[in-house]
Amino acid sequence: MSAPSLYLDANATEPLRPEAREAVLAALALTGNPSSIHADGRAARQVLEQARATIATRFGGRARDLVFTAGATEANALALHGLGAGRRILAGATEHPAILRAGRAVETLPVLPDGTLDLAALEAALAMGGPALVCLMAANNETGVLHPLAAAAALCRAHGALLHVDAVQAAGRLSVTLEDFGADSLALSAHKLGGPKGAGALLLRPGLDLPALLPGGGQERGRRGGTEALPAIAGFAAAVAALDPAEAPRLAALRDAIEAGAGLPVAGGAAPRLPNTSCLILPGVAAETQVIALDLAGVRVSSGAACSSGKVGPSPVLRAMGLGGDAACAIRVSLPWNAPPDAAARFLAAHAEMRARLLRRQPQAAVSMPPVSGSGAPVVPG
Ligand code: PLP
Repeated sequence: MSAPSLYLDANATEPLRPEAREAVLAALALTGNPSSIHADGRAARQVLEQARATIATRFGGRARDLVFTAGATEANALALHGLGAGRRILAGATEHPAILRAGRAVETLPVLPDGTLDLAALEAALAMGGPALVCLMAANNETGVLHPLAAAAALCRAHGALLHVDAVQAAGRLSVTLEDFGADSLALSAHKLGGPKGAGALLLRPGLDLPALLPGGGQERGRRGGTEALPAIAGFAAAVAALDPAEAPRLAALRDAIEAGAGLPVAGGAAPRLPNTSCLILPGVAAETQVIALDLAGVRVSSGAACSSGKVGPSPVLRAMGLGGDAACAIRVSLPWNAPPDAAARFLAAHAEMRARLLRRQPQAAVSMPPVSGSGAPVVPG
């Protein structure tokens, strides 16, 4: 029998927490539409509003200011189109495509070589004038690097700009509240913190409102039409309630052991980072080659961006950090909430074996790419 696989791709999606699974199953048993006024509708509405209160409170907001969406891609788009109406959109160069390709023209702000936002560039962009919406991620999905949000928020306030924070990767791994970040809105995703796929939220600062992207039947106080995905939302809230602050130091210790044992350059390694994420560069070996070799050994990790044209596109995030050829040679190791205690040792054993094998086969590390089907657009797994 082969050894059990080792899942180290939490930033693409976290394993479902048992509490979330239970809540999903319980909500699946409810028939009512939360907007129906009869008893079955009211029972569904109760679960919905309880979930709303749990999530909003956890992230420092009010239940009435939380808009459920299908995920963070939609929550970010709602913020960009709703809060960003009539405003310039400024966003970090390392933002997720959910921001950079939300259908609004974006002025990108450079990052420093460690991956953190160039605050001087933000200040200069804001000083150019005109109302602005600044969009920044709390933590980067590829490197785990944290932006200096408090300083960015102060600049936004000084220039009358709104600040939208994509908190997808930080939520559940760090303390995240609207107030901590000085944010006007937060985007959240259930499946990035141990909930099911298919639910997310936009949490607004009290007093802020926005028009719907899809008004539809007027659900979510007119801010997002469409019947709410109750099972996914119930699982989202249960995952949030199950978040355990003890997970972060445990994962950080595993992450540190991986980095010390691998002895490789770490993208963003000098910056403040998420506890669970490591972006390891193996110069001369394409990320996809590494991902496939590790996969064959039962270890699941990610490369930055796989390009469906069949060629490897070096990660735009790493390129924005100034990494040249090495931007195509980095893998993302992201520890899930339930990483086993021997995760670092098992990863390092598979990694050492892969390196030894690659070195024997291709000392110059020539790179081959598997064909990837699709529309030609880059696919980013989280
Ligand atoms: N923002 C960041 C930073 C992400 O990592 C992801 C993950 O894919 C998203 C947004 C999109 O989230 P969702 O999968 O919920 O649409």
